[in-house]
Amino acid sequence: MSKNLVIAIDGPAGSGKSTIAKYLAQKLNAVYVDTGAMYRAITFLALRNDIADNTPEVINLVRDLDIKLRFEFGITRVFVNDEEVTHNIRTKEVNDKVSDISRIPEVREELVKIQKKLGENQTIVAEGRDTTTVVFPEADFKIFLTADLDVRAERRFKEFLEKGTEIDLDAVKSNLAERDRIDSSRKVSPLKKAEDAFELDSTSLTIKEELDMLLEKIKSLKETEPQ
Ligand code: C5P
Repeated sequence: MSKNLVIAIDGPAGSGKSTIAKYLAQKLNAVYVDTGAMYRAITFLALRNDIADNTPEVINLVRDLDIKLRFEFGITRVFVNDEEVTHNIRTKEVNDKVSDISRIPEVREELVKIQKKLGENQTIVAEGRDTTTVVFPEADFKIFLTADLDVRAERRFKEFLEKGTEIDLDAVKSNLAERDRIDSSRKVSPLKKAEDAFELDSTSLTIKEELDMLLEKIKSLKETEPQ
């Protein structure tokens, strides 16, 4: 039997990480680990408890948390302390606050511990900013996915429309740009390309083209692996 693989996908907001991670996980029969969903869940709870601007309280919250991800029917279902928050974590309020919450080093520390554990005994496709640099620096295959800001904004805009959320394209674009700025400039685990990551610019690629390219790379990786 071949060994379990850890595949990590990093890149800026809206670059298509989660879409490609889901497809890859499906093709490889792997567990999809959506790390952003974890940061979103903490953000949602902090906002609901009205403590999002109180760092010590947010740290207490994350230390007390039992967080579980279940990938089902094409979506990541998220449970915190057995309460399902799958839909609550994808709102504009959470989008606007999540980068601030994920800047808190203690929040990252706790979530990284949980993420590392998920990669111990199973093949996973983990996606999120810092998965290639901090969570899984030893991943078998690291991907840094990029796309032009305009294309990323269009993709996110369409996702909002499909969910029936009315939003302005310029607002989506500035939210992405602002999250890129905060994520790239934060002190702890900033968004950056790992030196040994395979960089893929998806601006003018279809999902199928991206997927085929990545599967080909992963196949050659398996072929060179010692048996
Ligand atoms: O990937 P997604 O858009 O759901 O991530 C939401 C936010 O969570 C990001 O903008 C980033 O601030 C934070 N995040 C992070 N580290 C990760 C995943 C997400 O800081 N590994």
